[in-house]
Amino acid sequence: MNTMKIENKDNVVFYYNVNKDIIQIRNKLQEQMEFFNNGSTRDIKFRIRQLEKLGNSVKKYEGEILKALYADLKKSAYESYMTEIGFVLREIRHTKSNLKKWAKPEKVKTPFVLGPGKSRIISEPYGQILIISPWNYPFQLAMVPLISAIAAGNVAVIKPSELAPSTSAVIAEIISDAFNENFVFTVEGGVERAQFLLSEKFDYIFFTGSREVGKMVMESASRFLTPVTLELGGKSPVIVNKDASINSAAKKIVWGKFLNAGQTCVAPDYLLVHRDVREKLIERIEHYIKVFYSDDPSTSIDYSRIINSVHFKRIKGLLDNTNIIAGGKTSGKQLYISPTIVDRVSLNHPLMKEEIFGPVLPVLEFRDINEAVNIVKSMPKPLALYLFTSDRKTESKVINEISSGSVMINDTVLQVSNEHLPFGGVGESGMGACHGKSGFDAFSHKKSVMKRSGLFDIPLRYPPFNRGYGLLRKLSG
Ligand code: NAD
Repeated sequence: MNTMKIENKDNVVFYYNVNKDIIQIRNKLQEQMEFFNNGSTRDIKFRIRQLEKLGNSVKKYEGEILKALYADLKKSAYESYMTEIGFVLREIRHTKSNLKKWAKPEKVKTPFVLGPGKSRIISEPYGQILIISPWNYPFQLAMVPLISAIAAGNVAVIKPSELAPSTSAVIAEIISDAFNENFVFTVEGGVERAQFLLSEKFDYIFFTGSREVGKMVMESASRFLTPVTLELGGKSPVIVNKDASINSAAKKIVWGKFLNAGQTCVAPDYLLVHRDVREKLIERIEHYIKVFYSDDPSTSIDYSRIINSVHFKRIKGLLDNTNIIAGGKTSGKQLYISPTIVDRVSLNHPLMKEEIFGPVLPVLEFRDINEAVNIVKSMPKPLALYLFTSDRKTESKVINEISSGSVMINDTVLQVSNEHLPFGGVGESGMGACHGKSGFDAFSHKKSVMKRSGLFDIPLRYPPFNRGYGLLRKLSG
């Protein structure tokens, strides 16, 4: 295979398979930077107009998006609208109606000794943004960061996941329908394309995906000292204490776990249940699996499929030598794995060693809440943490003692839909946050501006310093 030695604009040498459009992409990046530098995106009205255009285009392509999500993941139209299209339209609406407020310079005090003067913090766009997105919510996870990037006045390049090719193609169509290429464009393709983009210098990189690739992204970004947001995954626990409403917990766990066939970054990954309520909870979970997806979920239009055969085999392999008490039915041809419950899983089992990212729920039991807390704390910090309890003390204990990206009490997954809450991980589940104002802030450099009037100038600051030491100490408090 032919490879080409590429030296990027910052003298980093990079080898790439000869590909006719590499040069084209690089030209587009250049033109985009020129467009950013001409200042159009600084205007708030311009940004709002672009968000409107994006919203209109998403509405125009609604049918195509639904078809693509069905082709890629067999997502039902209802679920696709709820978790992808509707989610994006809501984010656009919320951003549009708050943007003027968010973008206003924030006035701050100027200490007496530094005055007279005025100080403020300005939200300044970073410039050129790279958004790399995954396949599990392939539409939403490319669009939501884009909305924030536009709101903050940046230009952007989107690299959707090649593993959801139909959705990737619709994203490219929507972007070229809504925007001029020198403002936002899409680069479709796989790892090679992503790596090429990472060899270029961006002003900010927003990556959503796995920990392993997240590390590579951060390493590439470090070459240019480019700031990053990493939205990663991990094992998000759901803890059910004995004082919880068991029926309600079961219903919400089944919904959150089997949504998109468990391929949700914030899905409850494993269940920790108090031994006194274990049996009842499992019985209720089995009940709701049947209520939601019927006796044979393979026939339910509301139940998704696994993205590809690699992930199918990986998840199926995790079921080897386990105590399956519900589900466990698989079809490689259909990429189908039924909602599955695995009982009495030990912490050393492969199911507890990696993010499951599929419709398999391992069950572990605990005797008191300290034990549950210690189990969770023995693993990397989770992206999301779910707790079902009616006891305030247990609630405070879990919130205060376990570090996690987010916590949801008495429900699952819904915290992600609250645009007033930052969404992001901590530790190995990621860094930085998005959604609503947090997304706007992520894509804005907070620039400090201080202006002095020149009316008064404290002589104490100037050498020789041997005069007012006592006064200096007093002023410093
Ligand atoms: P992935 O890391 O394999 O891929 C994500 C993106 O990175 C894709 O666009 C892909 O083309 C690109 N990529 C893959 N390998 C690369 C490489 N070597 N160099 C550069 N780019 C590369 O992730 P995935 O399988 O698409 O998604 C699943 C993971 O994403 C899970 O771990 C899940 O928890 C996580 N996730 C996190 C969130 C969140 O918001 N925190 C949301 C969704 C998914």
